[in-house]
Amino acid sequence: MKIGFIGLGNMGGPMATNLIGAGHEVTGFDLVAPCPEGVAKAASAAEAAAGADVVITMLPNGAILRTVAAEVIPAMRAGAVLCDCSTVDVDSARAVAEMAAEAGLGALDAPVSGGVGGATNGTLTFMAGGTDAAFATVKPLFDIMGQKAVHCGAAGAGQAAKICNNMILGVTMIATCEAFALADKLGLDRQKMFDVVSTSSGYSWTMNAYCPAPGVGPTSPADNDYKPGFAAELMLKDLRLSQQAAESANADTPMGHLAAALYAQFVEFEDGKGMDFSAMLPRFEKRGRG
Ligand code: NAD
Repeated sequence: MKIGFIGLGNMGGPMATNLIGAGHEVTGFDLVAPCPEGVAKAASAAEAAAGADVVITMLPNGAILRTVAAEVIPAMRAGAVLCDCSTVDVDSARAVAEMAAEAGLGALDAPVSGGVGGATNGTLTFMAGGTDAAFATVKPLFDIMGQKAVHCGAAGAGQAAKICNNMILGVTMIATCEAFALADKLGLDRQKMFDVVSTSSGYSWTMNAYCPAPGVGPTSPADNDYKPGFAAELMLKDLRLSQQAAESANADTPMGHLAAALYAQFVEFEDGKGMDFSAMLPRFEKRGRG
């Protein structure tokens, strides 16, 4: 396939490399990041999109996505599909899908889970919103860049799945960290805490696979001085998106709200910037009840 790839940063770069490795023709554009080897460099987003069967975007946020979409949609050939893999707000995903449909194009919102490791190894999970036809067109590319692609529903459904998943992730990480900090203060050995919880009803991905306590459980960012991994800033971004969506859908999400507030405090006023999101544990350790 002929693919335009816009946004070649930490995630987009390795995703484009995997498409090249599978024999596709990729033309890329990024304002800053260099094109990976084998990707033809375009002078603009529109140039990268012109003539492509599928245009993939991997950008920082919804406002940038809307700007890029307004530029590339008029340049795309009829019947092509615009597939956004960034994590953005549901409203932007739906607005871009509408713009694409008006121009006779297919569109998917297809955010990913799996981080930079998943992007590099081709093991991402894609959660897609859009028409059956658009999903069928892009599915072979998802199969190269990832290990699983779920068609979640109509436009916006992929972003909805992503932010709901990550709201659970943020809330659960906080719960796991505060429980470890409490266990410490109660004199409970961390390994014993892990041995019990990881096989009891408090188990979770954050405890069992990404344990925030160094030296306990499988290797995780906690064992690497809390270098990300999944950065606290990205967790905050996703929690804010969940709260923005909850606001516009009139959904009651008190735990998500509190998790967003805690990560905002951590990133903006405490030590969280540049740290993995599991560094909530040392944060809780330092604090008393007051
Ligand atoms: P990044 O900042 O490394 O990459 C974004 C790229 O977009 C940058 O290279 C930037 O120069 C480029 N860009 C910005 N505006 C542009 C424009 N107008 N035209 C062309 N290029 C432009 O970020 P990332 O880590 O690759 O994340 C990309 C998206 O994936 C985000 O939405 C993020 O939330 C999501 N995501 C990231 C991870 C992760 O672990 N990094 C995991 C899942 C999802």
